[in-house]
Amino acid sequence: MAKKKIAPRVDMPVQDPAERVGNFREVALGYSLEQAMAEASRCLQCKKPACRSGCPVEIDIKGFIAPLAKGDVAGAYSVLREYNSLPAVCGRVCPQETQCEGACILGKMGGKDGEKAAEPVAIGRLERFAADNFHALSACELLTGGNACRLPRAGLKVACIGAGPSSLTVAGYLAARGAKVEVFEALHELGGVLVYGIPEFRLPKTVVKREIDALRTLGVEFHTNWVGGKTFTIRELFVWGFNAVFVGVGAGLPRFLSVPGEGLVGVFSANEYLTRANLGRAYAFPTYSTPIFPAKDAVVVGGGNVAMDAARTALRLGAERVTVVYRRTREEMPARREEIEHTEEEGVRFELLANPVELFGDDKARLTHMRLERQALGEPDASGRRKPVPTGEFFDIPAQMVIMAVGTRANRVLLEASPDLKLNKWGYVIVDEATGETSIPNVYAGGDIVTGAATVISAMGAGRRAAKEIAWRLGLESGD
Ligand code: FAD
Ligand code: SF4
Repeated sequence: MAKKKIAPRVDMPVQDPAERVGNFREVALGYSLEQAMAEASRCLQCKKPACRSGCPVEIDIKGFIAPLAKGDVAGAYSVLREYNSLPAVCGRVCPQETQCEGACILGKMGGKDGEKAAEPVAIGRLERFAADNFHALSACELLTGGNACRLPRAGLKVACIGAGPSSLTVAGYLAARGAKVEVFEALHELGGVLVYGIPEFRLPKTVVKREIDALRTLGVEFHTNWVGGKTFTIRELFVWGFNAVFVGVGAGLPRFLSVPGEGLVGVFSANEYLTRANLGRAYAFPTYSTPIFPAKDAVVVGGGNVAMDAARTALRLGAERVTVVYRRTREEMPARREEIEHTEEEGVRFELLANPVELFGDDKARLTHMRLERQALGEPDASGRRKPVPTGEFFDIPAQMVIMAVGTRANRVLLEASPDLKLNKWGYVIVDEATGETSIPNVYAGGDIVTGAATVISAMGAGRRAAKEIAWRLGLESGD
């Protein structure tokens, strides 16, 4: 019997690179209904689906793909929302290639006797399609199993500190089960890194807002400009009647390299640069009052998603030449493959196997160039990646602006005001792995403030674990 041919994966339509470098509109344009149905039809509906175990929030992946294959968007969305409070966000920014899609059984087929290996089902693109094409305002009914939202139960109140993906997951899970949830955010906008870090061309603010509006529909109350540790403490939240507190404050304190010249004018952390561009709307200056630093030669140091975002933002904001400097090779870059490809397509140059050793400026302390040392790859280090080894060969490149995207640390504002909260040697909050509970009873934590900088979906997974435990303790579900 002839073998059934595996249909090729449906390509994602994207904005043309030459056009998109001149705007902040989203690069990936999303599937049409026909494209989504064709891609969903590739799913084998496996008896033992490997994709699900690759997902940190254990979405019933084949369960949401099956209705999509028949064009049933509402059916797909209702399955998704049972597991994920932010499907339109995850469909855009999760590293699916190493998670659900990396495990997909279809992606392990073919590739023998000269035949081309099959590509996994485009799970992330389908997730995005289902979420984008469904009116999020119906989330309330869907999350509560078709019934109207349960009224908040008197006395059962949960506070979340920070409004990033970990807290939003806790809020969605508990509000759907009848708790009154209030979220306290230090900034004036909600969403955490999703709004101040990830640029509009990768994750439009309207998408994040729509997901947050769906939480509001569930009864979640949001307070902005509330800084935990300054305007209130964890202890006060209990005095105000909250039964449990979730700490999801992220790890937003930038790191630098500690090389000479980092104090020169023109040196930024990626955090500051992207916050100016995203929250400050620097791309619309002078309509908005936040200016961005002008530079012909912009250099970004780092190889993660943050570095790619900063480089592509600099290009869109007028830099003539943008270079990413990374101390290993392209293969070891931690950024998503798709983001690396999009960055290169847009004309960003990669200076690989190079590490900054000193920055130089003019007599007014304005950055003019940087010195790099060529690296070679040595033995694998603790991360499993081959370690960069200095070669003693130096060279200079021009730079009027350098953006450091070399990692972040925990911000200590809330932590210092909560001396009972036990921290590890790196300053991150210690939690019980299964429940997310901290050293203070009924205080939970999750996301980057526990793990250090990680991913949206791992922050959401941690939020879900903590929310389940809180729901069980408050008697909102059986805990099976
Ligand atoms: P955050 O998203 O950091 O949110 C924490 C919130 O707490 C913030 O809103 C902050 O203002 C608030 N806060 C802090 N202190 C206080 C306080 N004292 N009181 C009240 N509120 C406070 N991950 C991916 O999976 N895919 C990607 O493509 C990706 N790209 C990224 C690009 C950039 C530029 C950056 C910076 C990160 C990226 N990440 C990506 C990582 C991902 O965004 C984070 O891992 C994730 O957002 C962590 O979620 P969180 O809830 O722990 O914290
Ligand atoms: Fe479909 Fe791949 Fe999951 Fe199998 S492993 S159910 S093919 S998405």
